[in-house]
Amino acid sequence: MDRLSGRLILDDQVVPGKLTIENGLITDVAVGADSTAGADPTVGDTFISPGFVDVHVHGWGGHSAMGDRAALDGMARTLLRRGVTSFLPTAVSAPLDELAAFADRVRAWLAVAPGDGAEPLGFNLEGPFLADSRRGAHDPAFLVAPEAVSPVQMAPLLDGLRVITIAPELRGAWPLIASLARLGVVVSLGHSAANLVEARDGYEAGARSTTHLFNAMTGVDHRAPGLAVAALLDDRVYTELIADGIHVDAALWPLITRLKPAERLLLVSDAIPLAGTGDGRGRLGSLEIEIVGERVTLAGTNTLAGSVLALDVAVRNMVDAGIALPAAVAAATRNPLELLGINDRGRLAAGQRADLVELDANLNVRRVMRAGEWLA
Ligand SMILES: [Zn+2]
Repeated sequence: MDRLSGRLILDDQVVPGKLTIENGLITDVAVGADSTAGADPTVGDTFISPGFVDVHVHGWGGHSAMGDRAALDGMARTLLRRGVTSFLPTAVSAPLDELAAFADRVRAWLAVAPGDGAEPLGFNLEGPFLADSRRGAHDPAFLVAPEAVSPVQMAPLLDGLRVITIAPELRGAWPLIASLARLGVVVSLGHSAANLVEARDGYEAGARSTTHLFNAMTGVDHRAPGLAVAALLDDRVYTELIADGIHVDAALWPLITRLKPAERLLLVSDAIPLAGTGDGRGRLGSLEIEIVGERVTLAGTNTLAGSVLALDVAVRNMVDAGIALPAAVAAATRNPLELLGINDRGRLAAGQRADLVELDANLNVRRVMRAGEWLA
């Protein structure tokens, strides 16, 4: 049995209190100023958050989600050190046979993923059903319209597929979105030139989320409203945000937090494999990219090519921008899990799996617990 004191980040408030952890689960949450919180100087200023969940991440620490088993191990372990306890390895657009091989590798790895790494919950396909005009850092050679891909070609991708990005205006998108939604796959609209009608049709077909809101999509143009408008005004749909202040200026974040119900916001990193390794050049899928500070671009261009963000930084950035800590944390924990239909973790409550992050007073990761074990 483990007892853990600190400022507990609960669903809608932060209170001093104590967690009891037994057999990998939170078994009791004692709240109140008369707890031991504050009595021990080493935990007095400590925040305790549920473990972070990154549903859109291409790699970390020099390890690619599309690499071999050792790369997946490395990605999971480096993510865990940043407080990420669950994640979806995310592919960029690639030939279908390469995506099928990626799916095979991840599926084979799920059962043997390291216990001292973030836990994989399946995988995410960002592409290949993306609009060429909004492709961002995806290789145009690999983009296809849904109507050009048969169910037989899709079949090897389905087992373990949790999230897929689709541009709803592409030919054949409607039936593909509907069939994937029926299978329980989260369809996320994005990399899209959809007008408002096409975007709403995509959600009507069964899409439930939105890939990195504002980036690589039609936006809030007052004479040509697009996907961002449809996403912001539909309370049912989730929206991802890359909260690094580069992909979407922080001045716009209140547009999202004032319009969207708090439980529909998802913080994602969209991190590239070189995240956490410093400045330099490298590859994202087949394309060469360049990192300078916090900015990642296709080499020689101004096109953003993912981020070097981690979710602890995203939460901190949101709080710095005035978003309440419980809401920022929910967007990096409970909300993405609810999107995936997973409810055994993500909250500080009795019965939940003890996936926890201990943060210092400035919200830097201090320690990480996965399923009751301190790991990093
Ligand atoms: Zn991405």
